[in-house]
Amino acid sequence: MDPAAFRGVPWLTGARLVREANGWHVVFRLETPDVQPESHGGPPVGVDCGVTRTLALSDGTFRDLPVLLSPGEASRLLRLKRKAARQRRARPRDAPASNRLRRTYDQIALVRARTKRRRDDWAHKVTTGTSREFGLVVIEDLRVGAMTRSTRGTVENPWRKVRQKAGLNRGILNAAWGHVGAHLVYKTARVGGVLVRVPAPYTSQRCHVCEVVDRVSRPDQATFLCTSCGWSGNADTNAILNIRAAGLSFMGVEISGLPGTAKRQPPGKAA
Ligand SMILES: [Zn+2]
Repeated sequence: MDPAAFRGVPWLTGARLVREANGWHVVFRLETPDVQPESHGGPPVGVDCGVTRTLALSDGTFRDLPVLLSPGEASRLLRLKRKAARQRRARPRDAPASNRLRRTYDQIALVRARTKRRRDDWAHKVTTGTSREFGLVVIEDLRVGAMTRSTRGTVENPWRKVRQKAGLNRGILNAAWGHVGAHLVYKTARVGGVLVRVPAPYTSQRCHVCEVVDRVSRPDQATFLCTSCGWSGNADTNAILNIRAAGLSFMGVEISGLPGTAKRQPPGKAA
């Protein structure tokens, strides 16, 4: 058998049984050969995480996390939570959970496990698609992004609907954003693409055309209207075009077009 025929083919190195709320699962461990991929050559894109749209891409498209539970499943979850609350109240103070209460907890865990699987499935499909389509993916440094968003949504410009939705789904959304970032790291590398995380302060207040920063350019949550050059459009689109521009300038300055080798050098530590 010609060993070259197996170039790039992953092989199975192990398997284990895992018990989760919704039953037993087999987890396979695959080892992928260390093949240097050709550089991707696809177009650059900026990806921003938000509450109203889960992911906004700089090409003007969106990738939204679907509703994870059907109306029937959602009302069942609500019923189970109420049942658990009743069963908790019924037991004497400091008594251990009754068998009935534990059974209710198990049923709640089952619904939650289903939610988690659907969310993970979405994150995998979205990141596989993005890394195949685009050669350079620029995302906002999430630690900075989270602060920007809370300022944007609550302090500067309170917008009740956004806050409500954020409150309902914050856990799910945070996890989804986290998975998207983590998957993109290895999925872009695997196909010869590059992922760049940029700190992006003022992305929501800076005009992506003339680069003037002015908080007055945001008349409301959804709109950007530049007070300097007059560009107007969707506020999320303006923000994500800023993120994309930051990533492009980072690539140009630091590694001058060598896809596959994007590593941010610490300042003053030249090779
Ligand atoms: Zn402008």
